Amino acid sequence: MATTHVFVALASVAPVAAAIPELRVPLAVGALLGGIAPDFDVVLEHRRTLHFPVCGLVVAAFAVGVAVVAPSTLTAAVAAFAVGAWLHAVSDAFGGGPEMDPWTDPSDRAVYNHVRGRWIRPRRWVRYDGAPEDAALAVALAAPSLVVFDGWLAAVVAAGVTISLLYALVRRRLVTWTAECDRLE
Ligand SMILES: [Zn+2]
Repeated sequence: MATTHVFVALASVAPVAAAIPELRVPLAVGALLGGIAPDFDVVLEHRRTLHFPVCGLVVAAFAVGVAVVAPSTLTAAVAAFAVGAWLHAVSDAFGGGPEMDPWTDPSDRAVYNHVRGRWIRPRRWVRYDGAPEDAALAVALAAPSLVVFDGWLAAVVAAGVTISLLYALVRRRLVTWTAECDRLE
């Protein structure tokens, strides 16, 4: 789920943020946006238009290189964004497909590999977004961020954890509710 992606991105920058506290805010903001950004393609071709599991690594490595050579607020934020967006695209392959109802209609498309021109199949290590294991993962991945970040950043992380748990609680019921709404219309 979206919050898990954000916590992956934040966890990846947390050690750097702990080592270089003055870059904490740009790293966190970059990671946060990078963790969410790929899913804006939901209005285009979801998990394809803005998901780059392979090319994203090249971009992320380059951005990290630039940030290491010339550390600044901007380069740190850009690098955190690129790493977060790449990790998001890669980790989409570890879950299920993007379908709302994986119990009856599982998809074989996890995320698009632009280099090979085909879809990567879902590994389903996390069976679907909002699954209990997704919520557990979100909490575990949020932990380092809660240690490293404070103030409003910690508040954002804590809010994200709450949203993750609530979403996981109602996830399966959401399908029934949406179906009922469709029937009423
Ligand atoms: Zn995604």
